[in-house]
Amino acid sequence: MSRENALRTLAEGFDGEVILPEDAGYASARRVWNQLIDRRPAAIARCRTRNDAVSALAVARDTGLEVAVRGGGHSFPGFSTTEGGLVLDLGPMKQIVVDAEQRIARVGPGVRWGDLTAASAQYGLAPVGGHVADVGVAGLTLGGGNGWFARVFGLACDNLVAADVLTASGEIVRASAEDNQDLYWGLRGGGGNLGVVLEFTLRLHPVGRLLGGLVMHRLDDAADVLRFLAGYGQSAPDEVNVAPAILAAPPAPFVPLELHGKPVLALAMCYAGPLSDGERALAPVRGFGRPLVDLVEPTTFEALQHLFDAQGRSTPYHMRSHLGGAITEELIEAVLDFGGRLSSPENGVLLLPMGGAVARVGADATAFRHREASYCLEIGAAWSAEEENPQRHIDWADQLWAATRSWAIGVEVNHLADEGPEGVHRAYGDNYDRLAQIKRAWDPDNLFRLNQNVPPAVAN
Ligand SMILES: Cc1cc2nc3c(=O)[nH]c(=O)nc-3n(C[C@H](O)[C@H](O)[C@H](O)COP(=O)(O)OP(=O)(O)OC[C@H]3O[C@@H](n4cnc5c(N)ncnc54)[C@H](O)[C@@H]3O)c2cc1C
Repeated sequence: MSRENALRTLAEGFDGEVILPEDAGYASARRVWNQLIDRRPAAIARCRTRNDAVSALAVARDTGLEVAVRGGGHSFPGFSTTEGGLVLDLGPMKQIVVDAEQRIARVGPGVRWGDLTAASAQYGLAPVGGHVADVGVAGLTLGGGNGWFARVFGLACDNLVAADVLTASGEIVRASAEDNQDLYWGLRGGGGNLGVVLEFTLRLHPVGRLLGGLVMHRLDDAADVLRFLAGYGQSAPDEVNVAPAILAAPPAPFVPLELHGKPVLALAMCYAGPLSDGERALAPVRGFGRPLVDLVEPTTFEALQHLFDAQGRSTPYHMRSHLGGAITEELIEAVLDFGGRLSSPENGVLLLPMGGAVARVGADATAFRHREASYCLEIGAAWSAEEENPQRHIDWADQLWAATRSWAIGVEVNHLADEGPEGVHRAYGDNYDRLAQIKRAWDPDNLFRLNQNVPPAVAN
């Protein structure tokens, strides 16, 4: 059957929608979060049910159309779309079932973190997601997933209890500590390499009101604050999460007028435990130096996940990143040099803390390798769609990335740009070969290759 006929036949029995280039919804359906990505798929299969996903994958396999799998669509390099292939858009599969007694949630692959946080909060529970509500549960969990609670509850993938996976051969199998253990190992950090996850079972944790928010400093004071943080971060309890970020100050009433739009150091922080313990534990970092503003207050996890909404807006975007150890003088120097001359007010340089529970999982216990990292450095360049010279923003990020390379011990797949095999090797390190073996077992033809791709190991 021709591709056109196969896609038409797919549409006939579909519960969701198969959107073709001539359809009215195509222009918006082909878009992903990163506006730099401008690809035109042959079709977008907006799957509503498991059967939809099974049928769409079968069409791609049978016709040779390249497959892109989409959860929340936030992949920085735009892996959830394709030029001329078929997008399996799982966005409509948004079911969430919370089992408060077992403290787990069964979650569809189209769910965003904000939805899951809200559903869990009704039971006094919280998932272990990322920092931003709009990001997809699917991609973030499969790539590792570093968020507000990483130091106390681990990465998102450390909280993956089980997954129902549609494999390259078209079967649906379960992966967990009891079933298909190799697949379960690979799903925790291995990105979308191994199959299409149709349901995630995630561990939830009791989380009530917590202390969190932002403290802001002038950039002139940033070196001293970062030096202080280097020491404080080593000794702080796991419940403490302090992420320094250099950003353009918003034009908000609490920011002195002369700093509007100028780079400042923001410390985004929370204490994932009782409020009174949080007051004590965060007091040294809140009290250090001469903060411009202190917006830390009793809040909810839901509210914290909206703290970075401005940075999380969909724009043209170029991300570079490293995982590294402690904050060093060289790191401070490079970050402040480039942070002081942001190429666009939408840029940001962030250090997301790790350690604690992340480091207590063995480096070979899951596919996520770099458990020894203390921070994930995110260098984000964003600009407006009207910008005439996007390259200057890309260069700004690439140059800061190069200037901090000697600090790096690796990178996470979730923050990796499209850097080819070298970047993928840097992310998986000594876990690469095992992942390639698992890939050979579950996807020998590399059907799922639009990701930080680990091709199947060659048979020996
Ligand atoms: C604004 C923003 C904030 C972010 N914040 C954080 C953060 O705090 N912590 C962090 O760790 N990362 C963060 N990230 C990075 C994020 O984890 C990755 O971009 C992640 O891949 C996004 O997942 P998604 O489902 O939204 O993306 P998608 O683009 O849909 O998917 C990303 C990758 O996963 C694959 N995939 C998606 N769904 C499935 C599925 N069901 N089965 C198999 N493969 C699938 C895709 O094929 C693709 O390769 C952020 C990204 C953005 C844009």
